[in-house]
Amino acid sequence: MTDCIFCKIIAGQIPSTIVYRDTQVVAFKDIQPLAPVHILIIPVEHIVSLTDITEKQAGLIGHMVVVANRLAKEQGIAQKGYRVVFNAGKDGGQVVQHLHMHLLGGRELSGRLG
Ligand code: 5GP
Ligand code: ZN
Repeated sequence: MTDCIFCKIIAGQIPSTIVYRDTQVVAFKDIQPLAPVHILIIPVEHIVSLTDITEKQAGLIGHMVVVANRLAKEQGIAQKGYRVVFNAGKDGGQVVQHLHMHLLGGRELSGRLG
């Protein structure tokens, strides 16, 4: 997808602070962090939304969780706790149309989600 911001980040065409990368996913710091640790974990493949995930990509979602756990440890927030969030669609608050998992932590997050 040539007009997708996150595909451009993967391709290195838009600068970002990449903290992890493998053949399936890339993780980078959110440009407008909502917490001391705010990382986005995205698939290398351009998938628009969580809504598009079927059984075929179940392994990819599992891998994203494993990477989030690994990053939480690396960022020193695993012990105290953290949150992973997928926003899906307009009402879900999804702005960027490339699937992403937010990893948030480093402060006590509100117990409420919306
Ligand atoms: P959404 O609301 O779609 O779930 O979240 C999109 C996230 O992407 C937001 O937290 C926003 O700050 C982040 N974001 C948008 N554009 C860029 C960018 O160009 N670089 C980085 N690093 N993050 C971005
Ligand atoms: Zn994309």
